[in-house]
Amino acid sequence: MSYDLLSMSLPELEDFVLSLGEAKYRAKQIFTALHRGVPVADMSNLSRPLRETIGAVTEWRLPRVKTRLVSEIDGTVKYLFELFDGECIESVFMRYEHGNTLCISSQVGCRMGCKFCASTLAGRVRDLAPSEMLGQVIAAQSDTGERISNIVMMGIGEPLDNYDNTVKFLRLVSAPEGLNIGLRHISLSTCGLVPKIEALAQEDLPITLSISLHASDNETRSAIMPVNRSYPVETLLAACKRYFDKTGRRISFEYTLIRGKNDDTATAERLAAILKRHVGRICHVNLIPLNEVSETGLSAPTRESIRRFRETLEGHGINATVRRRLGSDINASCGQLRRGQMNKEIH
Ligand code: SAH
Repeated sequence: MSYDLLSMSLPELEDFVLSLGEAKYRAKQIFTALHRGVPVADMSNLSRPLRETIGAVTEWRLPRVKTRLVSEIDGTVKYLFELFDGECIESVFMRYEHGNTLCISSQVGCRMGCKFCASTLAGRVRDLAPSEMLGQVIAAQSDTGERISNIVMMGIGEPLDNYDNTVKFLRLVSAPEGLNIGLRHISLSTCGLVPKIEALAQEDLPITLSISLHASDNETRSAIMPVNRSYPVETLLAACKRYFDKTGRRISFEYTLIRGKNDDTATAERLAAILKRHVGRICHVNLIPLNEVSETGLSAPTRESIRRFRETLEGHGINATVRRRLGSDINASCGQLRRGQMNKEIH
């Protein structure tokens, strides 16, 4: 039996050290050191025999930097990380005025099938363990030498399709004995798995929930997001309202603008109307101009249509911002680097 130490909560680690006949306080020492990226073999406050005992029954495998791309425009760093089994995922390190933010992946690939997204083209390979999500933060901090204060779960994968590991990761990364990243500084983005949104509302985790909406009617949304056939727009928005009522946390909506599909003024009008009807004005819309992925055949919106869309929403009292594109010179949007790596392996 081999234990994944970095996926263990502090109480689990306490049980583990007690089972080795050690004092309980050791668990906290180990937890803190692990979350700083120190392997057990280097924990000098533990006796050598103890380090060896732990080393023999546990595994320690931080993601390894396989490729690192640094934007010359804004210093954004994009990582292709290799996991213990050779699978690759991506993380993006961004510098904002409010602190350094890491965008992390939650699965190897994705099975949600959104038509515009590079991450889902080859389906899902496997879920990430909590330690592999945490490992991205630890590895990026140690590579940049800078503290990460904010996390967005907007990389490869659907975090709510890997629910238990995601929730465990959120508790681990916010633990005061570990990285201590405040839950209010963490955003989780989902394509809209309604039962999981309901479950998340009960977890008492004050994160920001972001919903990838991308359309204002079921026909358009089902055409670009297959998940909509299971959880249509009204069902999803009703769940958002309940989430807000339960948690008091304002919901953020992502809306990827795709030329000729969902970027016209009539659609913006309809979007404002459904948001007001179902969730009220307690929301924020993040407009994301499509990052073109060659395989999809979809195009980015014009500057003019982005402006018109945003103004239409704001004219109806809906708060909207256009996402700044960081790292545009390094293809920093999710899934594209891993995809490039896969193509390299195939050809
Ligand atoms: N599975 C989660 C996280 C995915 S990525 C989700 O669906 O929310 C984060 C955001 O980027 C999502 O809103 C996703 O729809 C969007 N996105 C994916 N590919 C994109 C692309 N090529 N251009 C613009 N936005 C994209």
